[in-house]
Amino acid sequence: MTSAHPPHAHVSLPALAHARGIDRIVAGVSTSDGDGVKLTRVLQQTLQQRLDPFLMLDAFGSDNPGDYIGGFPNHPHRGFETVTYMIAGRMRHRDSAGHEGLLQNGGVQWMTAGRGLIHSELPEQEEGRMEGFQLWLNLPARDKMREPGYRDIQSAEIPEYTSAGGVHVRVIAGRSNGVAGAVQREHTEPLYLDLMLPPGTEFTQALPPQHNALVYVFRESVFIGSSEVPTKRMAILANAPESDGVQLRAPRTNHSPARVLLIAGRPLHEPIAQYGPFVMNTRDQVAQAVHDFQNGKMG
Ligand code: MN
Repeated sequence: MTSAHPPHAHVSLPALAHARGIDRIVAGVSTSDGDGVKLTRVLQQTLQQRLDPFLMLDAFGSDNPGDYIGGFPNHPHRGFETVTYMIAGRMRHRDSAGHEGLLQNGGVQWMTAGRGLIHSELPEQEEGRMEGFQLWLNLPARDKMREPGYRDIQSAEIPEYTSAGGVHVRVIAGRSNGVAGAVQREHTEPLYLDLMLPPGTEFTQALPPQHNALVYVFRESVFIGSSEVPTKRMAILANAPESDGVQLRAPRTNHSPARVLLIAGRPLHEPIAQYGPFVMNTRDQVAQAVHDFQNGKMG
């Protein structure tokens, strides 16, 4: 199905019989990565099985150049995909496969590391706000050694709609209420939405019960059932077999629209072996990745 809705159509949302509840709420840990970039690791290694096929979610956001100016100089990846979503700021990407792009406000960079590449992600600004997210999406075993790939998706290329109730939805990946996103993936079927919920509005999205799902709130708060998820928290949604989707409600007492990432996908149920930027299925494959990198076989 192609996107049947022009950008400002008033899409009606499904009524759910059994909306998902919350399994747990996670704060993430403050850390730094690359050349001293301060970030919050929201989805850590300890949650990789629970949130399969997602391996990592980092949130970064700062007005202080000292927190981001070093960026992420040359480093390798193998075995998965990185999805970087920029809310504010500009980041230049270059990789050993010859791809180069500028990621900026509202845009997405979707990089498939596959069998491996070396890349850099460097701020292209010396002041101002830098804010965004990096999600790591695992590849099935059969695709881990595929050719690297890369897509820059400018903000204007990301399909959007507004619900009849006034919720604004950006569909980065998957399908939402009849609107196809910028990226589709078979096998893990990732759904990646950026939602803007004005105070007092609600949003519903159908989800297969076996798909793992998370909600990350980055402005204001939302209710899921009777639980309020505050800003800078991730709610891991429960997988009750009878559940048919998720319902989010922005409290009337919010002062501005809630901003929320809704991310879901079909689990791979394959072994996960990670060492830093290499995510494979076995320790031997990870050792091979380190060896290949050290011997200049990643570009
Ligand atoms: Mn990287």
